Amino acid sequence: MRILVTGGAGFLGSHLCRELVKQGNEVICVDNFYTGSKNNLEDLLTHKNFELIRHDITFPLYIEIDQIYNLACPASPIHYQKDPVQTTKTSVHGAINMLGLAKRTGARILQASTSEVYGDPEVHPQVESYWGKVNPIGIRSCYDEGKRCAETLFFDYWRQHHTEIKVLRIFNTYGPHMHPDDGRVVSNFIVQALNNSDLTIYGDGSQTRSFCYVDDLIRGMINFMSSPVALTGPINMGNPSEFTILELAEKVIRLTGSRSKIAFRNLPQDDPKQRKPDISLASRDLGWGPTTELEEGLIETIKYFRSIQK
Ligand code: NAD
Ligand code: UDP
Ligand code: UDP
Repeated sequence: MRILVTGGAGFLGSHLCRELVKQGNEVICVDNFYTGSKNNLEDLLTHKNFELIRHDITFPLYIEIDQIYNLACPASPIHYQKDPVQTTKTSVHGAINMLGLAKRTGARILQASTSEVYGDPEVHPQVESYWGKVNPIGIRSCYDEGKRCAETLFFDYWRQHHTEIKVLRIFNTYGPHMHPDDGRVVSNFIVQALNNSDLTIYGDGSQTRSFCYVDDLIRGMINFMSSPVALTGPINMGNPSEFTILELAEKVIRLTGSRSKIAFRNLPQDDPKQRKPDISLASRDLGWGPTTELEEGLIETIKYFRSIQK
């Protein structure tokens, strides 16, 4: 199959491209290198079934493909808040262009949506039927509302044009090839620990997240793409094991053998207090569930960050 991966030079995209090439597909990666990098794709650049195009998906794209994975969008708060108008454009104009492309070519299209569509949730764990509690005018809104609008577009193309859609709500995912300056908690803590500098906890560290290892997520994403047409989602994927940010910091310090201490900083505006996916739909309809424990995944991720430090 000929598969387009937008945002393929980013963290998740590069893992996805690698797996799809490994499975014998022809992969076209489109990326504007806003947060992604060619380094993430080093091993693929000379592969005969892999092609890289520098392109911004807020502009139209005319190519011939069988499937689209739409991952293009900065995912970490510091990056998506740097140019918030561009973030909304990427989610909304980008979705319109990729859906237009899917409609013209008859390609099936998967949207990398997010647990952020639930905002600061009042329902815990989050189920797909929950509509969320999202601030429409805050500093996270460009990302949260952009992704919500993209979901709306996906479902309207499905209802109006019968485009085959798959909407995947991804919960916090981590692993090798996260950007070291990404600002996300796992990469920040590991980089800080390896440098023996203070681990910065925002707030008192009692907020919770559930961390999914990248290999588990990519397996689920590909599995969802090949599921029956009627299974449009939205479907949650993530690891339901929930940890406080303080527990995560302590684990990282222990696993790296670091001399780092913990330093508390102000909590950013609209930071969700708790987040944990209900994955019963993915389990029932796709037979999917994560298999990598947090410590196991952290060890692999620490190994990667050590290797790029040298
Ligand atoms: P990332 O920042 O590493 O990757 C995003 C990629 O998209 C980068 O390579 C970037 O250069 C590219 N990009 C950004 N704007 C673009 C544009 N206008 N045109 C073309 N390319 C563009 O982030 P990631 O963690 O790999 O996330 C990938 C997708 O998964 C995103 O859509 C994100 O919202 C979603 N997601 C990720 C997580 C997570 O925990 N990693 C959680 C929920 C959702
Ligand atoms: N588009 C694209 N590639 C294609 C087909 C469409 O990038 O192969 C873009 C184009 O910019 C268009 C948008 O997708 O405006 C939506 O396409 P659609 O056919 O849904 O609507 P249109 O705007 O063409 O009426
Ligand atoms: N966080 C933290 N220290 C950091 C980076 C993040 O305490 O150096 C916190 C952040 O405030 C949030 C949690 O860790 O409560 C997860 O943050 P991240 O940006 O990774 O993801 P998201 O908030 O999008 O879930």
